[in-house]
Amino acid sequence: MTKSANTSPHEDRNADSSVSSIELEQQVFGDDPTQVRDTDHYTREYVGGFVDKWDDLIDWKKRSEGEGRFFIDQLKSRGVHSVLDAATGTGFHSARLVEEGFDTVSADGSPQMLAQAFSNGLAYGGHILRVVNADWRWLNRDVHGEFDAIICLGNSFTHLFSEHDRRKALAEFYAMLKHDGVLIIDQRNYDAVLDEGSGSNRTYYYCGDQVSAEPDHVDEGLARYKYTFPDGSEFFLNMYPLRKKYLRGLMRDVGFQKIDTFGDFQQTYTESEPDYFIHVAEKS
Ligand code: SAM
Repeated sequence: MTKSANTSPHEDRNADSSVSSIELEQQVFGDDPTQVRDTDHYTREYVGGFVDKWDDLIDWKKRSEGEGRFFIDQLKSRGVHSVLDAATGTGFHSARLVEEGFDTVSADGSPQMLAQAFSNGLAYGGHILRVVNADWRWLNRDVHGEFDAIICLGNSFTHLFSEHDRRKALAEFYAMLKHDGVLIIDQRNYDAVLDEGSGSNRTYYYCGDQVSAEPDHVDEGLARYKYTFPDGSEFFLNMYPLRKKYLRGLMRDVGFQKIDTFGDFQQTYTESEPDYFIHVAEKS
C-alpha cells in the first residue's frame, strides 16, 4: 500500500484511480500498517464501511452541543459571507453553515464522504450542498472563486504526511482566500498525546457514546487510531501527529499574519489540557 517516497504527486493521483472495488469497501493497510505514512492513503481509509459508520462516530447532536456557536460566531464576527468547507466529510459543518445563511461550497478528496454529505444535507433540513471532489494540494485547479473563509475541521489536516504537502495545502488555502480572509483549522492536541505516551487515551471531542476511539500506535511520525463500533467492527486512521507550535509556524510561513489558537474553544488554557486546538488564521 505504501507508495515509494520518490513517486511524484501526479503519479500518486494516477495510482489512486486504480483502487480496486474491494479497497472501495474495506480499509487496506498492508502487512505493516504502521509503515503506512502516506498522504494519498486517506482515500483508502474513508471507504464504504467506515463512511457508513462515520456519523455514529461523530454524533451530530452531541457535537453540535459541544461546539455551540463557536465557528459560526468566529465567521459572523468577521463579516464572512462565503465559506469553503475544505474537509466536508459527511457534511456536519457544511449543513450548519448553509442553515446559518453562509454561501457555502463543500469540498473533500473522498467521493464516498461527499456522497454521504450530500444525502445528509438533504436529510438534515433539506439543504442541497454544493459538493466538489478536490484534494487540498490541487484545490485551485478544482474549486473556483475566492472565499471570505476556509474551514478545515475535524482533525483533517493531520492526514498530510509530508511537510511539502502541508505547505502546498496551506498555500492553496491562502490563495483561495480574499485579501482579508480567514482560515480555521483544528487539530487534536498531539503534543499531549506524544508527550504523555502512546497509552494516553484522550477523549475524541466529537465522539458518539457507543464508539471507542483509541491510539493503536503513536510515534513522532504516526498517530494510528482504532475506532471500534457497537457491532464489533473496527476501522483505523493513520495520521501525522502535528505539534501545535509547528503548525502555527507553517501557517505563519505561508503568509497568515495573525493566528489565534483556542483550546477546546477557550481562549485561555494550559497546554496539556485541551483535547483539541483550533487555529483561527487571518490573512491580513
Ligand atoms: N470535517 C469533517 C468532520 O469534522 O466530520 C471530516 C473530518 S475527517 C477526519 C477528514 C476528512 O478530510 C475526510 O473526509 C477526508 O476525505 C478529508 N481529507 C483528508 N485529506 C485530504 C486531502 N488531502 N484533500 C482533501 N480532503 C482530504
